[in-house]
Amino acid sequence: MLYRLLSCVTRKATASAFYRLPALIMKPQVYFVLGGPGAGKGTQCAKIVEKYGYTHLSAGDLLRAERGRPGSEFGELIENYIRDGKIVPVEITISLLQRAMEETMKSNEENNKFLIDGFPRNEDNLQGWNRTMDGKADVKFVLFFDCCNEVCIDRCLERGKSSGRSDDNRESLLKRIQTYVQSTKPIIELYEKQGKVHTIDAAKTVDDVFAHVQKIFDKEG
Ligand code: ADP
Ligand code: AMP
Repeated sequence: MLYRLLSCVTRKATASAFYRLPALIMKPQVYFVLGGPGAGKGTQCAKIVEKYGYTHLSAGDLLRAERGRPGSEFGELIENYIRDGKIVPVEITISLLQRAMEETMKSNEENNKFLIDGFPRNEDNLQGWNRTMDGKADVKFVLFFDCCNEVCIDRCLERGKSSGRSDDNRESLLKRIQTYVQSTKPIIELYEKQGKVHTIDAAKTVDDVFAHVQKIFDKEG
């Protein structure tokens, strides 16, 4: 009787340890999404979430949420950076991304595929990521939404009619484009040299852009 009880407990323990094993080795699988302001990153990420069930984390959205969080010690600093189209210090952005990934996987560790939109935006972002996340997440590839500055500006000005964003105005946009060209483009080029970039012509219609996105995720997602 005692033997049967013990072997039953052992079997259960082994089964549950075995069951937990895949969860223990689950690492976040990360897809960086880059492109100029208004290139359509958010629009396409929403469609990827709908079709493939990935989790979309926008660095900009997380920073705006933190800016608005009552009692946030970084609220004012974030607002100043965003209004000037500058890149917020990496420690803040990474801690928000890390927290969001942990919270998503806490409820179900299999929800481990993340579209990280608007990151890494500069060398500081990239180094911060390598420093903090090395071995903790796999970067699968970079989706680069390639769109000329004029189209990007026009789209953001149009979005600005209803977005309520403090940076969807011509003055902020010129600074954001400058930041993108000077700081983000070199990061995309760096990943390109590693063969990790999928470039998508983002000046096409939403559906045409998504058709290209789907081809990539159906093959490599
Ligand atoms: P991002 O996240 O890159 O800043 P959004 O996805 O918010 O860009 O898109 C910026 C604006 O452009 C939005 O108003 C969106 O509806 C519009 N937009 C996005 N993709 C396209 C597209 N392919 N063609 C036309 N307008 C687009
Ligand atoms: P977005 O919503 O991607 O257009 O970003 C809006 C603004 O948020 C940017 O102009 C930056 O000021 C800030 N921001 C977004 N992503 C980052 C990031 N990765 N690092 C620092 N600041 C960021």
